[in-house]
This record gives sequence, C-alpha cells and structure tokens, in this order.
Amino acid sequence: MDKEKLAIDGGVPVRQGGWKARWPVFDDLERKMIMEVLESGNWGGIFEYGSMHGKLPNMERKFAQLQEANHAIALVNGTVAISVALQACGVKPGDEVIVPPYTFVATASAPLAIGAIPVFVDVEEDTLLLDPDKIEAAITPRTKAIVPVHIAGGPANMTRIVEIAKKHNLVVVEDAAQAIGAKWDGRCVGTLGDMGTFSLQSSKNLNSGEGGVITTNDEQLLINAWSLINVGRIPGGKWYQHERIGQNYRMTEFQAALVLAQMTRLEEQMRTREANVKILDGLLSEIDGIKLLTRDPRVTRHANHLYMFKLDSDFARGIDKDDFINKVNAEGIFVLTGYNSLNTNEAIKQASKELSGRDHEYSCPVSERACEKEALWLTQVTLLEDEQAMHDIAKALEKVIKSYS
Ligand SMILES: *Cc1c(COP(=O)(O)O)cnc(C)c1O
Repeated sequence: MDKEKLAIDGGVPVRQGGWKARWPVFDDLERKMIMEVLESGNWGGIFEYGSMHGKLPNMERKFAQLQEANHAIALVNGTVAISVALQACGVKPGDEVIVPPYTFVATASAPLAIGAIPVFVDVEEDTLLLDPDKIEAAITPRTKAIVPVHIAGGPANMTRIVEIAKKHNLVVVEDAAQAIGAKWDGRCVGTLGDMGTFSLQSSKNLNSGEGGVITTNDEQLLINAWSLINVGRIPGGKWYQHERIGQNYRMTEFQAALVLAQMTRLEEQMRTREANVKILDGLLSEIDGIKLLTRDPRVTRHANHLYMFKLDSDFARGIDKDDFINKVNAEGIFVLTGYNSLNTNEAIKQASKELSGRDHEYSCPVSERACEKEALWLTQVTLLEDEQAMHDIAKALEKVIKSYS
C-alpha cells in the first residue's frame, strides 16, 4: 500500500457509514423484568441472609453458576467490591496490598479507602498483567494481600500468584471487573483466589448501569462480606443488631432485574467478541509497527472487555501517541490510549504517604512505557461489530503507520 492522504489532512476516511453496534443491548425482556420489580413494590436490597425472595438472590445464584463459584453477593459497584473483599479477608488499616499499576484507579483507591496501602508491582511486557516474577521482591512484613487484575478480560497468571500467596501467607482478591466469563486453566476467575470482584458498571460486558458482585468459595468470607454490605448485621441477627462497622452497600432489585436480563445475552456477545479478536489478531499481526500481546495457553477463556495491542517499541519511540490516535480516530476508527500508570498518580502517592508516613515511589517501566508510548485499546463494543469493521480497523492502522515513514 502506498502512502494515502490521511483523513485528518482532508483525505477519505477508511471507515464510512459509522458503526452499527449499540451499547447497552436491550429489548422487551429488560422492559418486562424492570416492570416486574416496579409492580412488586419491592425495590430495595435484601436484608435477610440467605433469602430466596426476589430478583437479587436469583441473580446472585445465577452469577455464582456463571462463575462456577460457591457463592456470589451483589453490591453497589466494583470499586466498593474490592474494598469489601479485602476487609472480608482481614485486611486492616496500615496493611500493604500488592497491585499492578496498569489498571483502573479503583484497584489502588479501594485499598486506600480502608486505610491499606497499595504497593505497585510491574506488569509483564507481553501481557500487561501482574508479573509474578516481581512480586516476591515487594513483599514486606506488612504485606497482607495481592490483588491481581484480569485486565481487558485476560486472566493473570493465577497459578504462580496463588503459589506465591500461599508461601507468604497472603490473601488473594482477584479484580475481575473486566473479566466476567474468563477462565484460567479451565477454572473461572473469581474462584482462583480467596475472593473475586466484578463490576456491572455501564461500560462493562455485563451491566446494570452501576453494580458489583463478589464471588468466593468460602462461606465464612461470604458472611463477612454480607455483614460489611449490610451495616454490620449478622446472619439471623436482629434488625438493630450491628456487630461490626459496615455500610449500606446493597444493590437494588431494579439492578438485579437488568443483570438477569443482560445475562441471557452474554454468551452470544462473548462469542462475537472472540470471533472478532481472532480476525483482528490475524490482520494486525501482518502490520509492521504493531506488536500483539500474547495469550498464555492457560487462558482457556478470555472475556475480551478490551482489545489491547501495542505499537512496536521502535516505531512507538519515534512518534507522539496522542498524535497517532488522533489520526486513527479521524479515519473513523475509535482507538483509545488507555490508562496512566497508577504508580505515577500523585493523589495515590499522597494518600499512601498520609497513611504510612513514608514516601511511595515505585518504578514500573513496563507499565509506564505501555501507557505513554505503546499500548492501544479497542473497546468491547467495537468487538461487537461485523467482520468488515475489523478489516477497516486494520486498514486504518496500517494507513496511519505508513504515513510516518
Ligand atoms: C471498572 C473497574 C473497576 C471498578 O468498577 P466500578 O463498578 O466502576 O466501581 C475496578 N477495577 C477495574 C479493573 C475496572 O475496570
């Protein structure tokens, strides 16, 4: 392909006619489920441990089945889910929690919300997931937990992470906000560590506008979480009996209704995304200047919340990432730059220092380079488009890359 005039310079955009995929996807099923809640007059959360009434317990049961977990408990969102799960597992103020820097801010702000300090351990070059080889060097006598993040819907190396946690007597809370339906070595995320946390926020692959779920195989941890979500009540206790400091983090029946309806669409959407990922992998691997991430063979199912790929480091070094993205977007293709590496976030450094009285400087060159220079994203909604769209994405990327030569 010769150099073509870029759309940003007045050339013809690669993608014409816009995009078909809409998000969220809904129809009369969602309308019916929401009306059922409305008419029931039972709008709020569930107050009784083990209740079987209403849509919430039904949704929790279905979610547990979906993730092949013994238990699932719903709550307000995926951020609070991380805080509650850490607390349920015994993480206390002043404890250190190992987290990757290449993630949404909640992975670090959730420990801080309960007075625990995030300690950043860099990610792997070829997956952008928490690097097991770097965890042990970050463990101190104050370390209490590891929070691997299944970023983009791809499971972190849970075999190694759980091994390291066992050796050092640490708990593992999986941040599976982006990974509903994902599996590592044949097992569902959210069941590999002590607890798993999920987000049902509107951009996520399964959504109810806002919402979160915690999974676990351990009933005592479930009870701890239930109590923290229900203002410190205990199973079978009296209405005004509060035995620990908890908050009201309950989900509503309306949200549960939406989740139940959206669940019926999940499997088909997952298959569409995976098929498009296969097409993209094939097309993008042929383009000079692009470097695909790798998938460990033990990633037996990927949730494809994002399609992440990299610009080849030599190419990326010589260009401005924002300029590149502007040019691709002008071609009618929606690519995103993604996160800022959380180890460089001043608010997190400051909050950590206030809690510990020490400075918190972490060097995470792989994550920092990915954020500043190399990593690019397509969203899960883009992955619901037709095959032609995948070809247009590849064409636009190649066109823009060639324009720099
Ligand atoms: C979305 C997200 C969260 C937070 O979930 P909310 O429901 O938005 O609070 C946490 N971690 C990761 C990795 C996420 O993508």
